[in-house]
Amino acid sequence: MARVLFLGGLGRSGTTLVERLLGELPGVCALGEVVHLWQRDLRDDERCGCGARFSACQFWRRVGALAFGGWHNVDVDRVHYLRAAVERTRHIPRLATAVEAPEEVHEYAEYYSRVYAAAAEVSGARIVVDSSKHSALAHVLRWAGDLNLRVVHVVRDARGVAYSWTKTVSRPETDGAAEMTRYSPGRSALLWNAHNAAFGLLARRGVPVRRIRYEEFVSDPLVALADLASFAGIVLGPSDLSFVEDGHADLKVGHSAAGNPMRFTVGRVALRRDDAWVSALPSRQRRLVGAVCAPMLRAYGYPLSPSEVSR
Ligand SMILES: [Zn+2]
Repeated sequence: MARVLFLGGLGRSGTTLVERLLGELPGVCALGEVVHLWQRDLRDDERCGCGARFSACQFWRRVGALAFGGWHNVDVDRVHYLRAAVERTRHIPRLATAVEAPEEVHEYAEYYSRVYAAAAEVSGARIVVDSSKHSALAHVLRWAGDLNLRVVHVVRDARGVAYSWTKTVSRPETDGAAEMTRYSPGRSALLWNAHNAAFGLLARRGVPVRRIRYEEFVSDPLVALADLASFAGIVLGPSDLSFVEDGHADLKVGHSAAGNPMRFTVGRVALRRDDAWVSALPSRQRRLVGAVCAPMLRAYGYPLSPSEVSR
């Protein structure tokens, strides 16, 4: 049975950094955002985290061969159809309350289980990390038959998330052809509420969910990583966290299939809080996001007044 650590949360919450650091732990293989593998890798042949085109990456070639007898055997149209049919935020209440899921949910989840199991075997890892983030996918995976699913729910201050969504970020894996999506602060605030609530619901359905605050994760990564390792059932040796030092971490090459451009970073990466939103997000928008997200910001222990945010 494949063991997967699913990183969930709204985009721009720091899941890529969390994934990269988890990928350095012994017996862990980080796969990137598997939800995008079908289109961006199988169809568009974008770059793997190792720098090679997906079709040229030996790791993913072996995973495809083991999981499906080769990627050419995957009916991508069918995967897209299934995704549109079952992996929708509006379906979450139904997925969370159903006694039995429709056959299409099982069929869609099976594609992921196969990728996870094959990636574990090819890499020799005991645990694979999928940083797909989407709450609806996590709810779908709850129905996967042969999967040991654990979820790390990454939350970040909604106002920092909103600020990040207003910025322009290019996607180097498309060689400059595309930029990452942008959302208005009002829209990202609503998404923040919906996605974070969905992970709370998942926990209430019996899936092991560990919630972490991104700001704490980067402030004290050693403690945070040791805690996540314990949650994932990984026994750490004395030098297993030596890649993390004061204020930075050293990253090796990985095979993240898709996701934030940070998946290409190799070598030293700074670990520090990014509270740029406190001064850069216009106060009108800051108040709007703070009001829309107030109940859950409070529940997660975030100060509602920006003056209380430590710099
Ligand atoms: Zn690769």
